Amino acid sequence: MAQTVPLPRPRPFSNTEVPPAARAAAPPATPGPSACRVRLTPERAIAPSVDAIEGPGECGGTDMVRLEAVVLSDMSRVEINPPAVLKCNMAEAVADWVRDDLSQLTAFSLGSRLRTVRNFAAYHCRSRNNIIGAMMSEHGRGNALDVRAITLVNGKTIDPTDVQVPRDFRESWKKSVCARFSTVLGPGSDGYHENHIHVDLMERRSGYRAMCQWEVRVPEDKPSPELASTGSIPLPQPRPKID
Ligand SMILES: [Zn+2]
Repeated sequence: MAQTVPLPRPRPFSNTEVPPAARAAAPPATPGPSACRVRLTPERAIAPSVDAIEGPGECGGTDMVRLEAVVLSDMSRVEINPPAVLKCNMAEAVADWVRDDLSQLTAFSLGSRLRTVRNFAAYHCRSRNNIIGAMMSEHGRGNALDVRAITLVNGKTIDPTDVQVPRDFRESWKKSVCARFSTVLGPGSDGYHENHIHVDLMERRSGYRAMCQWEVRVPEDKPSPELASTGSIPLPQPRPKID
């Protein structure tokens, strides 16, 4: 009876002897999925992992995903168009915002369900505002998203910077992103965000407040004169040369 035969006791090994388990070279341990990766399930978002991005320079990041859609509590999807390559934590924050705030706001304030969030920029290796020599943008770490517009199930396209869009909706959008992200830049912030809303999860030293800069304008508002000098206002076309 095989079961009843006692196994030989393991031989004690001396201090100079290598324990049997350590003799076989263990394969290098592959790191498991991040906590964010584990949380970001298909019930919350369609966000497959993508390879880590290394460089150029300081750009890149690990734990990157491609956020293709946010899944709402009724399992309907809000498309991210085009899909946004983001760091997992940022993608998760965007998914939560779309799911818990933006989709509710559109249904409540605009009377139609949210269909698409238009991604204007996500991961993108560049300096801040594309200025040569400026600090690297959070876009270069996959930690920022620019939203140009959303589309609704009723076919309408809504631009959050458009003064004709109901003001309470834009105010609620601003309040919701400023509560969730550490940087929010929109019209009236620096002249580079007149046609889109930038959000990111930049880490600031403790004691530094989040940045929430978005002037929700009313139709009669004119851009402040300082903006005119930053190049955001198109200059008149040069007059044709007359010989
Ligand atoms: Zn941006």
